[in-house]
Amino acid sequence: NRINIAIDGPAGAGKSTVARMVARALQYVYVDTGAMYRAVTLKVLESGLSTDDNASVGRLANELDIVLLPGAHSQEVHVNGVDVSSRLRSLEINRNVSYVARLESVRNRMAELQRRMAQVKGVVMDGRDIGTHVLPNAELKVFLTASSRERATRRYREIGSDADITLEQLEKEISERDRLDQEREIAPLLQASDARLIDSTGRTVDEVVEEIVQWGLAIART
Ligand code: C5P
Repeated sequence: NRINIAIDGPAGAGKSTVARMVARALQYVYVDTGAMYRAVTLKVLESGLSTDDNASVGRLANELDIVLLPGAHSQEVHVNGVDVSSRLRSLEINRNVSYVARLESVRNRMAELQRRMAQVKGVVMDGRDIGTHVLPNAELKVFLTASSRERATRRYREIGSDADITLEQLEKEISERDRLDQEREIAPLLQASDARLIDSTGRTVDEVVEEIVQWGLAIART
């Protein structure tokens, strides 16, 4: 039996690394929903629209053809046929994405696309509102977190020390993004009541992946 797995949590908790490895272990499809919000944000910034303009940004989002392709290391994101993957992790996108993601028009569109991707079971989807909103019937829900210092340190290593930001600034920006994601009106970042909590502070990626894979296998057997 194939099941769907929802992995939610704050920024930098290691969701995408863990979700990708769980998907590989189970031979499931990995869907990175944060990358979809980042792709919309890229287009909003390019088009010069205000991140407050629900109607215009919604029209833009509805016209975008967003395709996720499994890549060798991370997932490739194609927007209207163009691979934008390498442009989604910039500080500029980090600073704007939570404003775009709080728009109702954008969330409705993304949730619709995400539900479609999960129609055939065997999906590991990571995000903020997957267990609570997008896939409330997912057979396994995980809320993955870690201390804010550990999350900032992981992101800092990812960005590289040549980036024009200190670890302290990065920690502040991550906390600000979490605050925006938690306080927004529609589908805020929240642990689903039936989600299993994993605090990955001080644990290895392999341990966390193994725990989730074992849960998934046990549920799939029943
Ligand atoms: O996971 P990642 O850090 O790439 O997500 C970027 C942003 O996209 C989040 O901070 C949040 O504002 C938004 N997001 C969301 N709902 C999701 C996934 C991401 O609102 N399911």
